[in-house]
Amino acid sequence: MTKTVPTKARAVIIGGGVSGCSVAYHLAKLGWTDIVLLERKQLTSGTTWHAAGLIGQLRASQNMTRLAKYSADLYVKLEAETDVATGMRQVGSITVALTEERKHEIYRQASLARAFDVDVREISPREVKEMYPHLNVSDVVGAVHLPLDGQCDPANIAMALAKGARQRGATIMENVKVTKVHTRNGRVSGVSWAQGEDQGTIETDIVVNCAGMWARELGRQNGVTIPLHACEHFYLVTEPIPGLSRLPVLRVPDECAYYKEDAGKMMLGAFEPVAKPWGMDGIREDFCFDQLPEDMEHFEPILEMGVNRMPMLGTAGIHTFFNGPESFTPDDRYYLGEAPELAGYWMATGYNSIGIVSSGGAGMALAQWINDGEAPFDLWEVDIRRAQPFQKNRRYLKERVSETLGLLYADHFPYRQMATSRGVRRSPLHEHLKARGAVFGEVAGWERANWFARDGQEREYRYSWKRQNWFDNQREEHLAVRNGVGLFDMTSFGKIRVEGRDACAFLQRLCANDMDVAPGRIVYTQMLNQRGGIESDLTVTRLSETAYFLVVPGATLRRDLAWLRKHVADEFVVITDVTAAEAVICVMGPEARKLIQNVSPNDFSNEVNPFGTFQEIEIGMGLARAHRVTYVGELGWELYVSTEQAAHVFEAIAEAGADVGLKLCGLHTLDSCRIEKAFRHFGHDITDEDNVLEAGLGFAVKTSKAGFIGRDAVLRKKEAGLSRRLVQFRLKDPQPLLFHNEAILRDGRIVGPITSGNYGHHLGGAIGLGYVPCEGESEADVLGSSYEVEIAGERFAAEASLKPMYDPKAERVKM
Ligand SMILES: Cc1cc2nc3c(=O)[nH]c(=O)nc-3n(C[C@H](O)[C@H](O)[C@H](O)COP(=O)(O)OP(=O)(O)OC[C@H]3O[C@@H](n4cnc5c(N)ncnc54)[C@H](O)[C@@H]3O)c2cc1C
Repeated sequence: MTKTVPTKARAVIIGGGVSGCSVAYHLAKLGWTDIVLLERKQLTSGTTWHAAGLIGQLRASQNMTRLAKYSADLYVKLEAETDVATGMRQVGSITVALTEERKHEIYRQASLARAFDVDVREISPREVKEMYPHLNVSDVVGAVHLPLDGQCDPANIAMALAKGARQRGATIMENVKVTKVHTRNGRVSGVSWAQGEDQGTIETDIVVNCAGMWARELGRQNGVTIPLHACEHFYLVTEPIPGLSRLPVLRVPDECAYYKEDAGKMMLGAFEPVAKPWGMDGIREDFCFDQLPEDMEHFEPILEMGVNRMPMLGTAGIHTFFNGPESFTPDDRYYLGEAPELAGYWMATGYNSIGIVSSGGAGMALAQWINDGEAPFDLWEVDIRRAQPFQKNRRYLKERVSETLGLLYADHFPYRQMATSRGVRRSPLHEHLKARGAVFGEVAGWERANWFARDGQEREYRYSWKRQNWFDNQREEHLAVRNGVGLFDMTSFGKIRVEGRDACAFLQRLCANDMDVAPGRIVYTQMLNQRGGIESDLTVTRLSETAYFLVVPGATLRRDLAWLRKHVADEFVVITDVTAAEAVICVMGPEARKLIQNVSPNDFSNEVNPFGTFQEIEIGMGLARAHRVTYVGELGWELYVSTEQAAHVFEAIAEAGADVGLKLCGLHTLDSCRIEKAFRHFGHDITDEDNVLEAGLGFAVKTSKAGFIGRDAVLRKKEAGLSRRLVQFRLKDPQPLLFHNEAILRDGRIVGPITSGNYGHHLGGAIGLGYVPCEGESEADVLGSSYEVEIAGERFAAEASLKPMYDPKAERVKM
C-alpha cells in the first residue's frame, strides 16, 4: 500500500541523505513525532551512498570534535538500536607526517585532542610500521594514532538513522520531491511536493534543507543564501589482496591521500590540490545513485605517490575507480542553523566530504537548536549566518571550491589565506594601502591589510608554525601603536543603524549595558541569550534621541542583524545595514591626538571629546565622525568617513602623519595589541556558550536595569558563583608562539584550550586567553596554581592574570 503524503506537519525535512536522516532521527528523539522527511528519489541516492565511510574524531576545534565524537559514539550503538548493520568498526586511525612542519601540526592536534578527552597518542615511524606492515615509512617523520576512530558503511548509517526516526513516529517518504517552500508574513508556511503526476502541499512552520548539493538552488528560490558547489571526489578500490587483514584507517595528508582496508581490499582516496568543480549548469533531474566519468589522468599523481607509499598497490588490480560529486563551501565548513533571511527555514548541509562523520552530531545539535530556539552550544564555526550573500555567485563558488577540497589535507598553517576568488569586497583605501606595501588577508570576502611589507620586501606570506616572515613587521607596527601612532583601515566593520521612536527601548531590551545615555555617548555592550551567553559583542553609539549606530565585527554582521531583527516585537524601529556607506580609519597610539589635531580644527581634548564619546569633525576638506574608542588599548579615534570622502581623508592624515612618524598597521597588529590588553574576541574568547560573567565582562552588564534578555541568567550565575573564568596567560619563554587551541595545564592537568593567542611584542612573549575551571574558588585560588601551555606535546610555563597584563588600570586610553 502506498502511503499518502500528510497535509500538515510540525517540520518537513528535505532530503534523505545521511544529513536529513540524522535530523529526523534526532527531532524524533526529542519527541517531534509529527515530522515528514521527503526524498526526491531514494534514501542515500545523492552523495551518501558512495562515501568512503571514514569516521575521524579529531577536528579543528573543541565543539567540532565534540560533534564528531558524538557521531562515532552514536554509530557504535545504532546497530543494536535499529537492527541495521552499520558496518561501524573502531579500527583506529593513523595520520603520518612526511615533513617537520606537518609533524608539528599533527602533534598540536594531538595536544588539542587530549584537551577534548579524545584518546590519542604520538607514535614513532617504527610503531607505524608495526601497525601497518605494508607501508613505506622511510620518509615518515612522525605520526599520531587514535584508537577509537573507525570506518562504517555510510548508506547503512543513514538507513539506520531513518529506521530509528520511523520507530519514533517520523514519516519518511521516497520519490517525493519538494518543488517549492511557501512563506507567509515573512516566515515559512509550507511546502509543495510532486510525486510523479501527483502534487500536493504540506502546511508547516519549519523546513530543514538537507538537500546536499541541491541545497543552494533550493535556497535560492526563497532568497536564502546557501553558498555551496559540488566537486568531483575520487577514490579507487583494489581487487582483493591476499593476506590483507584488518588495518587502521591511514591518512597521508602530505600526499593528499587516505587509505582504508575493507573486506580484504584497499581503498585509496584523494584530496588533490586543484579539484574539479561539477554541476555548474545544474544537476540532471534523473540523478540517482549516479557516478561521474573516470578521470585517470587527474588521479594519476595521487596513485603514483600511493604506489610508492604502499607498494602492494602496484601489483593489485583495480576493482573500482569511483568518482562522485560532493558539496564544498567557501571555507570548508558546513552550514547549520536558521537562515537569517527567512524564519523557519533551517538547514544542515554543505558537508565538504565529512558528512558521514559530521551528520550524527550535527543532526543532534540542529534538532536541539530547533527545539529550544537557541543553539545548544557554540556552533558559530558552522553557523549559516556567517555566509555572505555575494558568495552565492557561481563564478566565485566555482573558483573557490577548486581550492577548498584540497585544503582539507593541506598544511593548516596559522594565518593561511585562500588563493582563489579574492578581491571581491574592497575598502575605498585598498589601492592606497596596496601602494604602501599592504599584504592582504580575507574575512567575509573583505580584503584587509594584514601587515605591511617594507620597501623591497617580498609581499607574500611564508607560512610556518614558527615565526612567519612578517613577524618583525608586526613588531614594528605593534611598537609604533604602543609608543607613537598607527593607522588601521577597519572599513570591514559591520555598521548598523537602529532608528525610530522605540530605538532606545528596543536596545535596552537587547543589550546588557545601559543604552539610555545622552546622545554623543558610546557604550561597549553585549547582547545576551536567555542563558547569559554572549550572542554579540559590540559598541553602540547614540547619534540622537531616536538613532543609534552599532559597530560589530565584519564576520558577525549577518548574525547580529538576524539577532536584532528576530527580536523586534511591537516596537517601532528600523534596522539598516549601513556597512558600505562609511569607511573606518583608526588612528591609535599616544601620538594620535597630535596627529589628528594636524588635520582637523576641532578640539580633541578630554574635556570636549572624552573616552566613550563621539563628535562630528572637519578633517582635511571633508567631514567625519570621530569616535573615541579603541580595540588596542591606547589613546585613539575611529574615524567614520563617508565612503566617497575616505581616500581624501586618508591622504590628509598620511601627509600630516609624516611629522609624527605615523605607521600603517595591519590586522595582525590589531590582534597582537588587543590580546595584550586582554580584549575579548567574539567567536574565540566569547561565544553564545560563554557566560558574560565568566568571560570577565560583568562590568558591562547593568543588572540594575530591568527586563533585558539574559538578566535572569546573569543574576542566577551571580548567586551560584562562577564555574570558570577567562584568564590571560603569558609564556615565560619568549620563543614559542600561541595561535589558539593549545592545551592549558593547571597544576599539571589539562583544563581546556587557549581560546585565542598572538605575540605580545610589548610584553615580550606569546599571550593567550583561555577558560580555567574555578568552582567554589576565589580569584587568589585561581591565580595560586601553576600554569603551563602544551604546544605540540611540549610544555611551557605560563604566567596567569585575571586583569589585563597591559595597562590594567586603563590609564592609556584616557590620556
Ligand atoms: C567519494 C566520496 C567519499 C566520501 N567519503 C567520506 C568519508 O569517508 N567520511 C565522511 O564523513 N564523508 C565522506 N564523504 C562525504 C559524504 O558522503 C557527504 O558529506 C554526505 O553524504 C552528504 O550527505 P547529505 O545528506 O548532505 O547529502 P546527500 O546524500 O546528497 O543527500 C541529499 C538528498 O537530498 C535529496 N534532495 C535534493 N533536492 C530535493 C528536493 N527538492 N526534494 C526532496 N529531496 C531532495 C537528494 O535526492 C539527496 O538524496 C564522501 C563523499 C564522496 C563523494
